[in-house]
Amino acid sequence: MENQTNKQTIEMIMHQRRGRRLVLFPLPLQGHINPMLQLANILHTHGFSITIIHTNFNSPNPSNHPHFTFHFIPENLSESEASTDDLLALVALLNTRCEEPFHDCLAKLCSSDSEEEPVACLISDAILPFTQAVAEKLKLPRIVLRTGGASSFLVFAAFPLLRERGYLPIQDSKLEEPVVEIPPLKVKDLPVINTSDPQTLHQVVDGMVDGAKASSGLIWNTFEDLEQPSLDTLGQKFPIPIFPMGPFHKIFTASSSSSSGLLKQEDQSCISWLDKLATTAPKSVIYVSFGSIAAISEAEFLEIAWGLANSNQPFLWVVRPGLLTRRGGSDWLELLPSGFLEKLGGRGHIVKWAPQQEVLAHPSVGAFWTHNGWNSTLESICEGVPMICMPCFTDQRVNARYVSDVWRVGLQLENGIERGEIEKTIRRLMVEREGKEIRERILCLKEKAILSLKEGGSSYESINSLVTHILLLESFTFHAH
Ligand code: UDP
Repeated sequence: MENQTNKQTIEMIMHQRRGRRLVLFPLPLQGHINPMLQLANILHTHGFSITIIHTNFNSPNPSNHPHFTFHFIPENLSESEASTDDLLALVALLNTRCEEPFHDCLAKLCSSDSEEEPVACLISDAILPFTQAVAEKLKLPRIVLRTGGASSFLVFAAFPLLRERGYLPIQDSKLEEPVVEIPPLKVKDLPVINTSDPQTLHQVVDGMVDGAKASSGLIWNTFEDLEQPSLDTLGQKFPIPIFPMGPFHKIFTASSSSSSGLLKQEDQSCISWLDKLATTAPKSVIYVSFGSIAAISEAEFLEIAWGLANSNQPFLWVVRPGLLTRRGGSDWLELLPSGFLEKLGGRGHIVKWAPQQEVLAHPSVGAFWTHNGWNSTLESICEGVPMICMPCFTDQRVNARYVSDVWRVGLQLENGIERGEIEKTIRRLMVEREGKEIRERILCLKEKAILSLKEGGSSYESINSLVTHILLLESFTFHAH
């Protein structure tokens, strides 16, 4: 009886609140904008109006999202600040420079003379923790979207312990040692990044974790069957509701990098190249991409090229302009030995940016050599494509360890980027029995990902819980004031 009344109350509130506005604020980097826009689309299909606040820096094209309202704020970064290689310094700057314009924009949206519908809550990226204080000041609930995995987040949350026990800062002599408190991580898997001021790393990480703890809920682009133990631990350690409701890109498929409207143009030539191999050599192509930020040295670039050439497998390689750390006059492929691709007789294809989700779903693709950004890792799992892991920094390292040692759906290049090692790893994955077992395991995870989104599945239910949570949260906030 009581349940019935609760249900009726919730349904009544749902009815009343439909059409309420949610304000979303992504961290302006490709791997964060994409999932935030996917989340926006999911919530829009559940009846909410959507407003996106975005920096002018890296802004998506609003015309690709005519059903959302966009407000752009000046982040006041100089040209050199905006183009820095120091990712962490950029994130720290965004957290200070955006504060005032973000506050002013959100205050306007919340004011009684705003022409838009009343705002129910703010959803902002975990790496923009300053938004917690702004939301509190405006008496608006804040829900956090963490665009990475739950398992790596727990490692970030353990930074104080890792400092206390002497794991951080990392000492080169201890890289191969286990982190006994967080199995199966080794010291080299800890999610750090090079930065001009190492103190910034701890400020950003601690800020993200504290901001998440103080929020009204945490949304995850993951699914229970993938990260159940970590989600359970999070539930115990974080006194707020958590919503594992991914993989987002399988709920709202059209929000790829191109539809976010960022500058990178997807090169469709790779799909017709893959088509040619679909019947003669299914699952034979190694797709190689290190995401939108990671950079490699010239020496590594050449080892990768030769490793791929010597592997005898067909490959599709995304060489993003900017992939090389020190470009010494080389803009794109100038470093390759002359005639490199021609000599491979069509076995290799190189593009500047690929339609990645389409590539991974293509029947010719048999492996993904990845930096293990969370989006790439999830996209690979969702298409059942085994991985070769080459993490560069932060959570990529934890993701890679989970791929190779926990889910056992890929192999890590453990001994550096060297052509012989690359060739050997490709053979293990593409030719040997070990590779077959890895493929079976990732196909099984793919099935679980799909099931989680079906009616009654864990992510499906979690989305419904989030919608109810937002509505109840709002009604609570209204009554409380
Ligand atoms: N991506 C793409 N084309 C490419 C390379 C990457 O569309 O050639 C997309 C990919 O599908 C993923 C995102 O860019 O959604 C990269 O996000 P991820 O978290 O993997 O890495 P990040 O770029 O944040 O390091």
